Amino acid sequence: MPHTQCKQCGRWLTSEESGQPCPRCGSLDWNVFAQDCALADDKATVARKMARMHFRADAGLQKVIRLTGVGEAESRPVEPIKLLEVNTNSIPSDILPVSFGPAPASGIPYSSIIVEVTPAEFARIQAQELKLPRGWQLGEELPRPAETGEDR
Ligand SMILES: [Zn+2]
Repeated sequence: MPHTQCKQCGRWLTSEESGQPCPRCGSLDWNVFAQDCALADDKATVARKMARMHFRADAGLQKVIRLTGVGEAESRPVEPIKLLEVNTNSIPSDILPVSFGPAPASGIPYSSIIVEVTPAEFARIQAQELKLPRGWQLGEELPRPAETGEDR
């Protein structure tokens, strides 16, 4: 099923709304994803970009790992991009997912959820002593940016 997203404000349009000005901002500029897999690929690209931005912003960040939802969740436009961030500056606490809205102006058209943990907590997640929320699974580890910073 195709998915249409307003490039201006990031709103996802229903099939009735597509082809018309965006109901939120009136823009006629859309991204169209013809297939679920095209959408999933785009989310993967945006997830890598977010990881690079976060690595640059926080020297304590050791690892960024994508978290995946159950079944086909990741190919749904409204499913947030979920990142587990292992940070030496993190304060040990319960696993606490923090939600962010989409920021199309910064190239992040999807909402996101960040779960920050300490290295010790990450070890306990890997040992399955600590459970991730909502059945999320550890996915792909996202690369740290090259020192040259050419990969924006
Ligand atoms: Zn819009």
